Amino acid sequence: MAKKGPLSRRFSDLRAHFARQTLTACPLCNGPAPIGRLCAGCTHDVQYSMRHYPWRCARCALALPANVPCPDCDDQTPAVQNVVAAFDYVAPADSLVLRFKNARQFQLATIFAALAVDAIQWGHAQHATPPWPATTPLVPIPGSHRSLQRRGFNPAGEFAIRLGRLLKMPVLLSLLYREPARLKQSTLNRLQRRANTAHVYYCARNAPLPCVVLVDDVLTTGSTLNAAARALKAAGVQKVFAVVIARTPCVIRDEPSAIGFPD
Ligand SMILES: [Zn+2]
Ligand SMILES: [Zn+2]
Repeated sequence: MAKKGPLSRRFSDLRAHFARQTLTACPLCNGPAPIGRLCAGCTHDVQYSMRHYPWRCARCALALPANVPCPDCDDQTPAVQNVVAAFDYVAPADSLVLRFKNARQFQLATIFAALAVDAIQWGHAQHATPPWPATTPLVPIPGSHRSLQRRGFNPAGEFAIRLGRLLKMPVLLSLLYREPARLKQSTLNRLQRRANTAHVYYCARNAPLPCVVLVDDVLTTGSTLNAAARALKAAGVQKVFAVVIARTPCVIRDEPSAIGFPD
């Protein structure tokens, strides 16, 4: 084999240098990871249940205990056509969401957006056709006054902005609004959540759009997404899809239909 000359060695050194520059510490395992991504091993672990768990609602992505009707879609008329979730809200990925929301680790929004794009592309590959046109706007769920004051930012908005950049889709930050002074959703059960969010969202103007993608951080019972989707439809939107960072399985909600994912 021919010996490498000085110029060739220089290019090798430069390649190694740039490879090091594009790596960072994986926020889950601290191993090397591409900037804006988890490492390959953690990506596989985080996405595994969403891709391989056998029983899941085709509409809202809820993992079900068996091949049974979805409790979140069965007892209401969902206003959302279909939900894509980047991963299930289970360990270890749930810790990333908490770090993002409570410790302001904004770089995680970019990682969530990359994982959501993976999930969208994986879903397209499974179902053959893309569910929405590329020019469809993303609309983040507005944060409550209380959470905006506490955190200083809206997690759904930060996620939507990163997702819009990756997908080259516009983000509408001034269409959907939220009434103040509602009870905190995380303290309520399914029926209370629905009543609490029933008329909480409204649109600032008419929106005669064929399609919109709602964006939220964690999807628990679907009450928030459905209430927001109804507000969009009242303003003239014809179809509403949704993308969320994480989908809470029943097991977290301490309900009789709780399931456990295999390790
Ligand atoms: Zn990792
Ligand atoms: Zn469902």
